[in-house]
Parts: sequence; structure tokens; C-alpha cells
Amino acid sequence: MITKIIKEDLITETKAEFESADSIVLVSHTSPDGDAIGSTLALGLFLQSQGKKVAVIYPTAIPENLNWLPGAKESLIYANNPNGANELIKNADLICCLDFNELKRIGDMAIPVAEAPGRKLLIDHHTNPSSFADILISYPLMSSTSEMIFRVICRMGYFAEMSVECATCIYLGMMTDTGAFTFNSNHPEIYTIISELIKKGVNKDEVYRRTYNNNKESRYRMLGHLLSNNMRINKDLGVATLWLTEEELMRYNYEAGDTEGFVNIPLEIKGVVCSVFFKETEGKIRISFRSLGDVPLNEFAKKYYNGGGHLNASGGESFEPMQETLKNFETNILDLKDVLKKEIERQTK
Ligand code: 5GP
Ligand code: MN
Repeated sequence: MITKIIKEDLITETKAEFESADSIVLVSHTSPDGDAIGSTLALGLFLQSQGKKVAVIYPTAIPENLNWLPGAKESLIYANNPNGANELIKNADLICCLDFNELKRIGDMAIPVAEAPGRKLLIDHHTNPSSFADILISYPLMSSTSEMIFRVICRMGYFAEMSVECATCIYLGMMTDTGAFTFNSNHPEIYTIISELIKKGVNKDEVYRRTYNNNKESRYRMLGHLLSNNMRINKDLGVATLWLTEEELMRYNYEAGDTEGFVNIPLEIKGVVCSVFFKETEGKIRISFRSLGDVPLNEFAKKYYNGGGHLNASGGESFEPMQETLKNFETNILDLKDVLKKEIERQTK
């Protein structure tokens, strides 16, 4: 039994939007991750099967290890052809914004999407969504936006029509946003949904293998360097800091997605309750924050790094050089000293 978590009037409104739209654009955030890609491709495939003209557009490239997903090769990268994408955005009757909570998260697509005359639908599981959309479906307690897409399709009455390709994209998004069901994944209904997806024909072992056991050698060489030379652990606070400069990324022939998951690794070390990864790209530093338990990183990312996200998984950026960024972080993190120490106690008792 799957409960009706999404409000009925939102489902009715969304169904009406889908029915009245002819051309539909789906977008997600920069450096799209598994949930961003899984949710947009799943909804895109569903809408296509309903006879809609569909375009899935990402601001930047999708990682190599997710290229096999159904519909991935037909998706468009804004950075590769902004003029063509702008035309599609301008002419869309409906723009579905998935897996992000503010327009800033779609980079260069923010202005064309904001200015587009079409209706806007936002489906997302991040806290504090901004109010740019006509219809807002926001449920921060969901495992993933992909889980929300499953619920929306089912509640509109189209479960029987869901293809195995669509189901595979949904499963992929749920799997990647929960670290293969190791965090944010204790709600029993997640497993009822997975069971339904498998009945549709999803091969979950195959999805795992193609996603996680499908990496380049250079990723592991880079990881070796990162863990040996660029990881500091503050045992007192339970905080691990990792960093890679642009020069180091180039040395290992970095491509989008190559560092995915690196930030989670230090959390495998006993006593580490917070892990922060600083990556220098395009003249700024992208930061990934991860924590255990009650360590509130979204507020911290917002306060110091123009970012946000979830309590235990957030992101942000710094425009200072790497060494200065690392030094400032050591001071800033002291804000969380008490909650970090409490969490170490909780995790190691
Ligand atoms: P990641 O470390 O994987 O890039 O991001 C972790 C989480 O934080 C994701 O859920 C992502 O959506 C969110 N996030 C990352 N960067 C930002 C940011 O700059 N602003 C906000 N609001 N959220 C972010
Ligand atoms: Mn997500």
C-alpha cells in the first residue's frame, strides 16, 4: 500500500497542465546527478508516450556512467547549443523543473527559463523552494525527486502505462540519491515502490552495476592521490576535509562525474561525522558537504558559501583561492563545534 502523500489538488492541477500542453521542456540542475537525470528522463519518457513533444535539457553535461539510461542520448546540453535550447524553452507550453529549488541552480538557463512565457511546474525534495513556478510540488521528506515522479504518474492513474524504460530511470534516481539505499532510505514505502518497479521489469542489479561499477581507471588514480595527499582529518571535531585543484583534476583527465561520491568516503572512517570536499573548477571552488545525524549543513552552506541543500548533504561555492578557502573553513566550522562533538559521541558509543 502506497499512501497518498502528494495533495490531491496538486495532482489534479498537474494532470490538467500535462493534458493541455503540447510541447513540454524538462530541466534540472547543473552537474546533474542521478536523481536529476533519472527524474527528468522518467517524466520525459512518460510524457512522450502520451504523445507530447518533449525536450529534456540540462545546463551542463551528464556524467559518462549515466549515458546508458533510456533517453539520455536524446537529451540536450544547454552549454553545447544555447540558441537552440533557448528556442525550445521560449516555445514550450510547459516547463517542468525537477530536483532543484531555486533558479540559480540551473546556471545559464535561469534567465531564459524565468523569462519564458510557458507555465512552470516544480517537482522537488529540497527545503525552502523559491516561488518561481505556477505549480509547486515540494516534499523534502521524499528520498528523491524520482520517487515523487513515480507517485505523480501513479496518482494521475497511469501506472499501467509506465514503461520499463521509465521505471528504470525512476529506480536509478531513487538509488543514487540514497547512496544505494544506505541513507535517507528508511521509509518502508520506498521498498513497496521498488517492488512495483521490479515488477515492471527493472533489473536492479544491472542498474547498480552499470552505474557504480562502470568507472574509468583515472578516477581511481585520482582518488588514490586525494586520499593519500589531500585529506585532512580533524579528530577533535570529527571533520574530514578533501580538496582537488584545477591542476590536479587536469592531471587525471577529469570529466564531469569523475569525482562523484568522493565526499562520502571519509564518512566510512570511525569518528568522522562530517566530510567536506573542495573542488576547483572554472575559476571557483565547488563545495560538497556531507554529515551524519543532526549536523545541520544546509544552514552552514547558506551562511558561508552561498549554497544550501539537505541537512546531511549540501553544496555551496567559494571565490577565494583554495588555500584561503581551506583556512577560512577551519574557522567557520567551529560554529558547529558542539553539535559535531555530540554527534561523534552518538556515533561511537
Ligand atoms: P552535491 O554535493 O552533490 O553537489 O550537493 C548535495 C546537495 O546539496 C544536493 O541535494 C544539491 O541539490 C544541494 N546543493 C548543492 N549545491 C547547492 C547550492 O549551491 N545551493 C543549494 N541551494 N543547494 C545546493
Ligand atoms: Mn535529488
